[in-house]
Amino acid sequence: MHSNTTRGFAVVLILLGAAWLSVGSFSDYLTGNRKMFAETPACDDASWCASIRDLFIIDAHSDTLLHRDPSQATDFGHVDLARLIQGGVDVQVFAMASVAPKIVEDDDKTTADDSAVCGSWDDGDRLGIFFPLKEPFHPETWLSPMGRVDRLINRFDQAVGKQASDGSTLVRIGTKADLDALMTERNSRDEISVGALLAIEGAYWASEDRGELTRQLDKLEAAGVRMIGLTHRSSNQLAGSNEDCWDRHGLTDLGFFAVAEIWKRNMVLDLAHASSATIADVAQLSSEGKGGPVIVSHTGVKSACKHDRNLSDEDLRNVVRSDGVVSLGFWTTVNCIKGAVTAQQARLAIARSFAVAYQILSTPEFAAEMGPGYETSSHIALGSDFDGATLVPADASAIPWYLEGIAKVEADGQRVFDRASIENVAGKNLLRLLLGAMKNR
Ligand SMILES: [Zn+2]
Repeated sequence: MHSNTTRGFAVVLILLGAAWLSVGSFSDYLTGNRKMFAETPACDDASWCASIRDLFIIDAHSDTLLHRDPSQATDFGHVDLARLIQGGVDVQVFAMASVAPKIVEDDDKTTADDSAVCGSWDDGDRLGIFFPLKEPFHPETWLSPMGRVDRLINRFDQAVGKQASDGSTLVRIGTKADLDALMTERNSRDEISVGALLAIEGAYWASEDRGELTRQLDKLEAAGVRMIGLTHRSSNQLAGSNEDCWDRHGLTDLGFFAVAEIWKRNMVLDLAHASSATIADVAQLSSEGKGGPVIVSHTGVKSACKHDRNLSDEDLRNVVRSDGVVSLGFWTTVNCIKGAVTAQQARLAIARSFAVAYQILSTPEFAAEMGPGYETSSHIALGSDFDGATLVPADASAIPWYLEGIAKVEADGQRVFDRASIENVAGKNLLRLLLGAMKNR
């Protein structure tokens, strides 16, 4: 062991101790092993859940790369190749976060109106503790957000294309041809490939120098990144975050430049974590005919659960005005799941967020604004946030169980989502978005 490594170890040990002393429940976050129920809850109707596995299913957000190689089977956390196959998932989006502020109690300093927490750089970068602990042999990740992205890309590269002992494989999705190949294989064989798509969660590495920012985006495009979110839980040089303690501004000049560059590269712009002002700026670009593909990869809905992290009614409408897709999450915080609840109650809270989003987006006024051909269910999708700093009822193998909950949810005594809507929500919408955004090959 050479001396750099030894020094590295010493630093890690010190940080390890400091981390445990200062951040309490951080160990949950570090391990990412948080499920409400140890056993995957059983479907009410097993044959319905079996039939739903045949749909093309896409989940828009997981943080698994932060923790481990998703091609390796494990009983830890929420996502791995084996459990994606069990859940009938065809494509999983793997996000790469590189900065995450410590979330603090919101006392006097916030600009916020509703929730009790906010994020600020001033309170420390949690991933600045996480990476030294998780990546002791990769000091390039300790202080550099782009170093962290590079490391996660490397892990992704290791994960894709490797065949597991049962012949299953995680395959890279970077082009329309990749998606076509996946669909063809899926129809001819017994679903043993799962597509994997790379995404960025928060562009804190973005250079203020436009030439350099262009080169950064070129590099990420070449590495296979197909979805980019500008912010995480604090505002930055590009855009405002919806949880920032101080300033939830819209797109900056550099942000407008970055968005145009992202769309130029046939990538999807992710507005998860973005401030209302940022979402409105993007809708404005769309109305001027300067828009591009838009997603909110993992979120909740304020009208179902009041939280700054969630979309307001106007945010929801602005995403749809941008022809975007809203992917709703499964985790407790954004669905206001609190205390001891049953699996059924937890699932109902999640399904209710889907129903409330549907209702907000299907009022006669909004349908009239969107014009003929508008279909509400074409704008709602799945965005689990598996393996994030999240507590979810069940892991990726339970996707059919989650979908059954969404299919059964009622408003005014009637089911909100019919079979065609469920197909849209399960994957058709995200498939359309990705096919529309990506290059042929
Ligand atoms: Zn997130």
